[in-house]
Amino acid sequence: MRKCFKCSQKAQVYLPQHRLSLCKDHYLQWFDNRVEKTIKEFKMFKKEDKILVAVSGGKDSLSLWKALTNLGYQADGFYINLGIGEYSEKSEKLATAFSEKIGRPLYKISLKQEIMPIPEIKKHDSRPTCSVCGTVKRYYMNKFAKDNGYKIIATGHNLDDEAAVLFSNTLNWSVEYLKRQYPVLPEEDGFIRKVKPLCKISEKESAMYAILSGIEYIEEECPFSEGATSIDYKIFLSQLEEKSPGTKLRFYSEFLRKMYPILQKSEEKPQLRPCKICGEPSINEICSVCSLKLKLKKQEEKA
Ligand code: SF4
Ligand code: ZN
Ligand code: ZN
Repeated sequence: MRKCFKCSQKAQVYLPQHRLSLCKDHYLQWFDNRVEKTIKEFKMFKKEDKILVAVSGGKDSLSLWKALTNLGYQADGFYINLGIGEYSEKSEKLATAFSEKIGRPLYKISLKQEIMPIPEIKKHDSRPTCSVCGTVKRYYMNKFAKDNGYKIIATGHNLDDEAAVLFSNTLNWSVEYLKRQYPVLPEEDGFIRKVKPLCKISEKESAMYAILSGIEYIEEECPFSEGATSIDYKIFLSQLEEKSPGTKLRFYSEFLRKMYPILQKSEEKPQLRPCKICGEPSINEICSVCSLKLKLKKQEEKA
């Protein structure tokens, strides 16, 4: 029987990459401390800052919201109903129930009202669904945060997400993306500061935190995530991790420590300007969401 490293009671969790066995209470404490340490390491925000957590109803965003609340941060939730059938209905219910449980407000918007549900947009746009969905989510989240006085948006991206993106960007030598792969994106050109406090916490660790703290989260994956190449990268990296615990964390942390600073020296930033229609930051004269809206309108007129 493994014993908890802290109190010698029966351990419920073993973390191979940290060679650490912990009981339930000490695991929950370890998780909160790790989040706090990451916030401090990357100077993400301070106790007096108002934070908006992007809540999807999944284990990562809800665990993040809980940890931030436990740590005494003022973190409110923001949920976007994407209009993806049962998946969206269920995730909204769980996110709402969780917000009531922890006594923090959850602000909600619906794409059906703002623009069009994702499955409908998919019919009119040839880009991969997740890429359009990502653009639309980013747009509304940024806008809501600015309009409501939030200075920081926190997302639940975990180590597995970050390592998979890093792996993909490295395989393709996507230097422009690598230059921006940092757990903090500063406030600039109309974009709110964005942070990823779970970037050094694995998917398994975040699932364990959710389960052990009794969080009810949506277990189903979004139906559009099926077949995404990022899933293949995650599987591959997890196989490496199995053989050699700590691989993902090393890959990601060492990139941040050794490679990221070198990439910054050669930085040439794309010039951003306010969108002519809505005023949100954009590379082109008209931002991608307004262009999408115009395209959808034209198609509607034709039909
Ligand atoms: Fe959007 Fe793709 Fe995520 Fe589904 S999997 S919520 S479509 S980004
Ligand atoms: Zn213990
Ligand atoms: Zn616009």
